[in-house]
Amino acid sequence: MADEQTLRQQIVELGTSLFQRGFSVGSAGNISARIDGGYLMTPTNSSLGRLRADALSVLNEKWEHVAGPRPSKEVVMHRATYQARPATAAVVHLHSTYVTALSCLNGEAAIPPLTPYFIMRLGREVPTVPYYKPGSAEILADILDAAGRGPAIILANHGSIVAGSSLEDAVNGAEELEVSAQLAFLADGRDVRPLAEAEIQELLS
Ligand SMILES: [Zn+2]
Repeated sequence: MADEQTLRQQIVELGTSLFQRGFSVGSAGNISARIDGGYLMTPTNSSLGRLRADALSVLNEKWEHVAGPRPSKEVVMHRATYQARPATAAVVHLHSTYVTALSCLNGEAAIPPLTPYFIMRLGREVPTVPYYKPGSAEILADILDAAGRGPAIILANHGSIVAGSSLEDAVNGAEELEVSAQLAFLADGRDVRPLAEAEIQELLS
């Protein structure tokens, strides 16, 4: 685990990077990371582009707010992700454009297996969780189930959640998910060759 000061700095730097490249806009999206004795989280109504290392929310192991500004109201999704995937060191939640566009389609927001990097980083499938009002505690059971199936989740009519073994890993995964969703739209309606099942299995093994 990176030390808390390093993590605080990393949250600011990677948040800024995501914001500057348009992966988040306004005050959408949030980031959490595990620290000794609890979690750091981006504050409620904060913009990923304008975070401060000394103004992040601190929560204890029970997810009670213990220091800093109030955490994002979407804290429940983060909590469920760590609970379902105990090796998780950080979680990134974005409303990035293409994933969110996919999440608004009827039915499962399936991303086709087009590139090896997607399979290697995010696995065979990215499950979709039904729509809940942002911040709703009722999403907990669905996130627990979906997060148990892989590191990435699509939230219907909302965005994405990606867990990582480090903060950088979670950010990389969230970026890969967004770009894969973009590829899915670009390739839609064309004569696409998805990866064959044997090719997918080779990547997963
Ligand atoms: Zn959200």
